[in-house]
Amino acid sequence: MKNTIYDVLIIGGGPAGLSTAYLCHKHNLSYLVLESGKAIFQGIANTYPEGKLVYASKPKDAPQPFMVDELRPPDKPVTVESYLQYVQHFVQHENLHIQTEVDFEDIKDERDGLTVMTSKGAYKAKKVILSFGSNIPRELSVYGDAKMVAKNVDDASKYIGIKTLVIGGGNTAADVIINILRTKREAGDTNPVYWAHKAEIFDVNKETAQRLGEEILLGGNIRLLPGATPRIGEVDDEGVDRLVIRINEFKQADGIDLYHALSFPMQNVIACIGSQGPVPIFDKLNIQSIACTAGVCKIAKEGERLVLLSAEFESTRKGVYVIGGAISPSYMKISEGSITEEKHPNLIYTAINDAYYVVEAIRAKLGKS
Ligand SMILES: Cc1cc2nc3c(=O)[nH]c(=O)nc-3n(C[C@H](O)[C@H](O)[C@H](O)COP(=O)(O)OP(=O)(O)OC[C@H]3O[C@@H](n4cnc5c(N)ncnc54)[C@H](O)[C@@H]3O)c2cc1C
Repeated sequence: MKNTIYDVLIIGGGPAGLSTAYLCHKHNLSYLVLESGKAIFQGIANTYPEGKLVYASKPKDAPQPFMVDELRPPDKPVTVESYLQYVQHFVQHENLHIQTEVDFEDIKDERDGLTVMTSKGAYKAKKVILSFGSNIPRELSVYGDAKMVAKNVDDASKYIGIKTLVIGGGNTAADVIINILRTKREAGDTNPVYWAHKAEIFDVNKETAQRLGEEILLGGNIRLLPGATPRIGEVDDEGVDRLVIRINEFKQADGIDLYHALSFPMQNVIACIGSQGPVPIFDKLNIQSIACTAGVCKIAKEGERLVLLSAEFESTRKGVYVIGGAISPSYMKISEGSITEEKHPNLIYTAINDAYYVVEAIRAKLGKS
């Protein structure tokens, strides 16, 4: 446990988290950003296509300007790469406090504040801002701990010389495979890439299929494993964490099942099995959400669960706030005794402006305004 008690701990270093950090820095609140990716803005780096233009979009009915001008995208759209580079320089220039490759796990209430549990230990704070966006990578649901399995590829050369397993049947998995096949081909590595999917049919678009076909014709060594399911995380005799993937199962009358399986060191496995919204995390944290009933919600569909927040973005868990993409496209706002669905477009504008309002509220609560 680190001894410092921060005024504010910020989970996620995207537009919402970094704007919060910058405002804390400006107003002398102590803070730390915990980001699970290798760098800030990892969410954007992972989801925007290469060369995509970033627009300074504002909802039509929004009266306010961007409240943190320093982080807004320029009016004349620039590529995502230039925007990321600009933000990185800004963070370095301001010397903002950020720890990368830290996965947020849980929050515990303590007498003197909140303790945030992470993959790299515990941190203490008076207030916690959840700004982890809307794309939470799905975990592999296998018995045992498969958390070490990568969700994406930042450096395909790590897989040169090893047999790699990619799990998932869609475009993201195919893109990862194309990237690894190309890197292996260029390095003269003939070790195969195994591609496992729980369904019998892989589901990729035409353009991705063409690029994959090209890699295969150029010599890419790929082994398809349709109908395969990840089953168990195990540790071998040498202490290496491994993932077993079943490729065939034979049910027998005597109740003893036979199966064929392959076992891969977890560090050779990449799981591209999609993302989910943050509701499971809110449940785990005991943050209350409400299911939309017919006629109550205009944006969310019937049955969808929306997180319950005060006008200042504080959740039902005292001292824990939620902002940015994590509460888009709408949330339930408690205000003056009533609860209504509040529209919250998933835009950089909304993320930045949420940060402004939340820091103002925290400054007032901590007596630092
Ligand atoms: C393809 C695409 C194009 C878009 N184009 C535009 C555009 O042109 N203009 C615009 O205004 N908006 C655009 N958007 C929307 C915009 O990117 C989002 O509204 C914005 O990124 C939300 O910011 P955020 O900080 O809330 O979340 P994110 O940007 O998602 O940041 C969340 C951060 O939290 C980290 N994180 C996640 N889980 C954890 C965890 N457990 N522990 C620690 N850290 C964690 C993530 O790695 C990430 O860095 C686009 C979105 C997409 C997908």
